[in-house]
Amino acid sequence: MSTLIVEAKYVIPVRPRGKIIRDGSIVVEDDQIVFVGKRDEARRRFHSDTVIRAERHVVIPGLINAHNHLFQSILKNIGIDMELVSWLRTSIHPTLASFREEDFYVAAKWGLIENIKSGVTTLVENHYGPFGYDWVAKALIESKLKAVLARGIYELNVLLDILKEEPDKALSHVEYLVKKYHGYNNRLWIAVAPMHPYNASKELLLKAKELSDKYGILYHTHTAESKKDQELVVQLHGKTDVELLYELGILSPRYHAVHAVNVSPKEIKLLAKTGAHVIHNPESNMYLGSGIAPIPDYIENNVNVALGTDGAGSNNNNDMIEALRFAVFLHRAARSHPSIITAWDAIEMATINGARALGLEKQIGSLEPGKKADITIIRLDSPHTAPVTDPLGAIVYCANASDVDTVIVNGEIVMENRRVLVFDEEKVKEEAYRTQEEILDRAREKFGATFPYEKFII
Ligand SMILES: [Zn+2]
Repeated sequence: MSTLIVEAKYVIPVRPRGKIIRDGSIVVEDDQIVFVGKRDEARRRFHSDTVIRAERHVVIPGLINAHNHLFQSILKNIGIDMELVSWLRTSIHPTLASFREEDFYVAAKWGLIENIKSGVTTLVENHYGPFGYDWVAKALIESKLKAVLARGIYELNVLLDILKEEPDKALSHVEYLVKKYHGYNNRLWIAVAPMHPYNASKELLLKAKELSDKYGILYHTHTAESKKDQELVVQLHGKTDVELLYELGILSPRYHAVHAVNVSPKEIKLLAKTGAHVIHNPESNMYLGSGIAPIPDYIENNVNVALGTDGAGSNNNNDMIEALRFAVFLHRAARSHPSIITAWDAIEMATINGARALGLEKQIGSLEPGKKADITIIRLDSPHTAPVTDPLGAIVYCANASDVDTVIVNGEIVMENRRVLVFDEEKVKEEAYRTQEEILDRAREKFGATFPYEKFII
């Protein structure tokens, strides 16, 4: 058995809510937390040669990024100043269709490095289109993070035929992924993910639900994201997303309503009644002008709200520390209210609420004895954070991803003093530069793609 002790100026275990331990310690045996409390007590009871001393740091549960598209980590800013559907059709789809299989591996590694460097220990990776899944899974496994690979499916309303799939064929590929990876090492799980209801027939939406029930896998779908996608879904199905999904019997505690921005008060109640989860991506919603998700209303109605960055094509990064801040500021500005969402609400969205959405709340999401040792250590002695009064305020209102110092998953260090140990960052960076150039060239050649940024560059 190996023992790791983390001693820190502050520990925020998240459970119990609202408690911060000054001069705290966490003791880890193998992959499990066995003690969280005062340093003095830990020193009396436990001994180890491996002690991380985090004198000017705060320790939090590893962050859970509940919605991501890793391939977009090499597509930052390729489509600017557009609403969702135009952005997808002109910028994301032609580039996605120009990836070679192994390019997804490079992009996934690059995006995972950024996730790790912002303190993420678990993520939902919503890959989409017909290809690249085994390469993405390979990167996820190598990263040592915990991940749900949500297998995205486009059937309708997509301009490029190469991205469209027949429901039965796509769903049998989901089954292939379930059999190959679901539960792998207790770190990788598969979810089924029709992309948007306006991209799917009722047949696909219902068959995906059957698969979700058969294997007990999550159902992860962009839901009520923008005004335009709601117009398209009404044209196709005669109803907006949440009402449609409710009528089809798809909403459940395994359903992730990703975004859930443009909903009626009745639809908020339907999400609450069915136990569906909302995945909030404030920066993506702001960037694409999709609107403001009614997060305070979800919380008031006891809907579980988790937090994500969304893909770096619409964020435009994978920075969960920044996402914490926007998850607070957006709603305070929208409702002219200084505490409608608090720093405690935000940290819960990014930890325990994410764990609940993934069905992993018994294993992760807080620092408690018996849980897996997924731990993020953040340095707080920089000019923009120090001197510290409120350690959680320092994280949510002051810190940057670059303050994340060390990241531990299942008791194993994946980043130490900002050095990522699971990938060769410099090598992946060079691959990312080269791969992006090749993809954009191919998108121009094959699909006549043009990108808005090009007009600025002489
Ligand atoms: Zn998304």
